[in-house]
Amino acid sequence: MTAGMFRRIRMEDTMTRKIVSPENTRRLFLQQVAGGCLALGSVAQAQAQTMVDDTDVQATALGYKTDASKVDKSKQPKYAAGQFCNSCTLYQGAVGSASGGCPLFASKQVAGKGWCSAWTKKG
Ligand code: SF4
Repeated sequence: MTAGMFRRIRMEDTMTRKIVSPENTRRLFLQQVAGGCLALGSVAQAQAQTMVDDTDVQATALGYKTDASKVDKSKQPKYAAGQFCNSCTLYQGAVGSASGGCPLFASKQVAGKGWCSAWTKKG
């Protein structure tokens, strides 16, 4: 075996060890886990920002309207002008905000100017 061949084999051996060493395996695993968490976080964020649509099953059942001024008063006698999601006790967004969470629509956001039959004045 020549000195050049010996050096080449040592170099390949070193490269192989780098690729399969436990430290690199752990690092690769952590990188993959971190990447997976970021991807899940993005999906969760996208779901959290999805707005409730007036035609969603739950929305229809609760008489939800994205625009409270479009509530049919003949079908929703509890509704009174000036009632909005962002003044409801169940609204999870900041006071006066354009949208926010609501426990009745767990994975979506309701419009701050929306309304549903479960509206209760924020105390
Ligand atoms: S419960 Fe309140 S915040 Fe939730 S949709 Fe109905 S009015 Fe809006």
